[in-house]
Amino acid sequence: MQSWLIDYQRGLRWLRRHRPLRALAYLERALLAVPTDRLRSPGSGSRRADIARLFYYLGLGFRKAGMRNRAIGSWVESARLEKRGTVRRKLFRVTNRYGMARQESREIDDQQAFYGIQLSRYIRSKQSHRLGTRAEIDMIAELIDEYWARLRASADLSQLTCGQKLELFRSIVIVFPFLTVPEDLKTEDVAVDFSHGRRVGDEDRCVCGSGLPYRLCHGRIPGADEALIGKF
Ligand SMILES: [Zn+2]
Repeated sequence: MQSWLIDYQRGLRWLRRHRPLRALAYLERALLAVPTDRLRSPGSGSRRADIARLFYYLGLGFRKAGMRNRAIGSWVESARLEKRGTVRRKLFRVTNRYGMARQESREIDDQQAFYGIQLSRYIRSKQSHRLGTRAEIDMIAELIDEYWARLRASADLSQLTCGQKLELFRSIVIVFPFLTVPEDLKTEDVAVDFSHGRRVGDEDRCVCGSGLPYRLCHGRIPGADEALIGKF
């Protein structure tokens, strides 16, 4: 049997035994070893389905391990490979309007979106694209929390649509201390649908052709569990 399949099945076994971290180690190794050549050629459907399933179970592992946004990241990959099916439905069920893991209340949804936007901006502005020490993580988190508290005190978010809130969150530029080179603060990535010559809205289909809404695909806001490992 191919080595990736052995790891894949080991991963599934550990998932069933509720040992998600162990399962993740095997599933990630399987993903690295799975042959991805000729994925786009005709007759590669079953290979695509294999990899889509692998991403699906990887997502389950992340979810069980409490990394809910990394789970969504994996399910998005799965949904890009398989244009229809249960993964897509699951994706819509577990995400909020920001394309992030749904939280217990709308207020926490908002706070997580703000946090994700600001944290990924900070990480992108760093040369290494990673957060370093625990102290740095704590300091940045505290700073973002302060801005969040100030924003909550000055604006009534309940009156705004999701799109308006996103615009507001993105417009707030946090002055991060010394560690950063704030040059990219001005260049927020904007996806443009060239066939129509306009900016892509969060509910529009993504420009990559996945068939997913932009907010769930290339416009996704990373959660802290993703941003911290530099996946964005
Ligand atoms: Zn996309």
